Amino acid sequence: MTFKQLGIIDPILKALDHQGYSTPTPIQQQAIPILLDKKDLLGCAQTGTGKTAAFAIPILQHLYLDRQEDAPRKIQALIVTPTRELAIQIGDSFHNYGKYTGIRNTVVFGGVKQGTQTQALRRGVDILVATPGRLLDLMTQGYISLKDIKYFVLDEADQMLDMGFIHDIKKLLVKLPSKRQSLFFSATMPPPIVELSQKILGDPERITIKPQQTTAEKIDQSVYFVSKQGKPKLLVHLLKNEDMESVLVFSRTKHGADKIVKVLDRAGIKAGAIHGNKSQVARQRVLGHFKEGQTKVLVATDIASRGIDLDELSHVINYDLPHVPETYVHRIGRTGRASASGIAFSFCDVEERPLLRDIQKLIRQDIPVNEEHPFLHEEPVVELAAVNLRPQRPQPYGQRSNSPSSHSNKNRNQRWQGSRKNGAS
Ligand code: AMP
Repeated sequence: MTFKQLGIIDPILKALDHQGYSTPTPIQQQAIPILLDKKDLLGCAQTGTGKTAAFAIPILQHLYLDRQEDAPRKIQALIVTPTRELAIQIGDSFHNYGKYTGIRNTVVFGGVKQGTQTQALRRGVDILVATPGRLLDLMTQGYISLKDIKYFVLDEADQMLDMGFIHDIKKLLVKLPSKRQSLFFSATMPPPIVELSQKILGDPERITIKPQQTTAEKIDQSVYFVSKQGKPKLLVHLLKNEDMESVLVFSRTKHGADKIVKVLDRAGIKAGAIHGNKSQVARQRVLGHFKEGQTKVLVATDIASRGIDLDELSHVINYDLPHVPETYVHRIGRTGRASASGIAFSFCDVEERPLLRDIQKLIRQDIPVNEEHPFLHEEPVVELAAVNLRPQRPQPYGQRSNSPSSHSNKNRNQRWQGSRKNGAS
């Protein structure tokens, strides 16, 4: 299957070629024909699946084919997404895929002054990517009108719910023209999200890209049993001993993220943190350093990490296990993006054992235990049995285990490098 076979027009094919996309991902193969047909879509999928291109390409194609040369630009497509990072990434995607179409987009989000955003709006755009708060604000001020919207995308709906944006979304909906194509994406479908989707969509086509199909299976995962106190030492140990190129470390809290950076700093490892307490400018700077390779470790909270586009990530480390099992899949999905495979390490202290059990239930696999580390935390056998894991005995560091569940680090790195050599993004 190629993008050409999906009926994509030449100016977009050329841009996709420049991006190095040779084959549509599963969600693109399923969604593009539906969207080119102007049907509504309910997509149960997460970032890392190629979801952005799945909706951006058909919208660009419609706008390009319907464009009247001398007509002033009006906002015809609106994409609403929960975080600034995600909004910027989606805006970049529209720009990249649409660079030979003449279709213009801009991005509006809060936390920064509005001047540059309102200037771009005044110059005229066809596509607007926005976070909910700033969008409503600029609408109230009269900079944005939604009366010409033909394409509406609500992205990461479950995250909107978590972040308390549902009320804002409902306010928006009443301003949208009723005749439109609507797309609704969510990684999970709890009842309030199903209810919201019914308010937005007509009679939608449905696509589900299951997490285990997209990420969990192709990522080399392992879990490290370690005490809370042992976690900083284990992190430093791994970063110093493993061959890691670019590492995203997940912390459950903002404060925890800053603490991790301090620990790494003391150990002489360059790292930066992104989380909600940092200004947009500070986050972009940290991200820039990471992308340029000046720092090899980025520490992030779940919300801040959403939507940041990190193609070359070799490892994800779950310093803390998430409370919501789906978040684990989101997190490790940062390393196995599109067709590349990746490596994910998870630290698990005794209190986190039930969280591990929930994750394993969701992904329907036992995550192999890595016991080849000096900070192995021995737990009572009964505890291990409760989480359906084989009892592990601590071993002196350096002594190789014959356990089939303990992985050779060398193999892991070879696998990652192999996938990158093969041109995977
Ligand atoms: P998304 O799920 O939209 O966040 O996309 C995940 C990553 O996959 C992004 O870095 C995209 O650049 C990349 N990507 C999207 N579609 C393709 C494709 N067809 N081939 C290769 N990479 C892709």
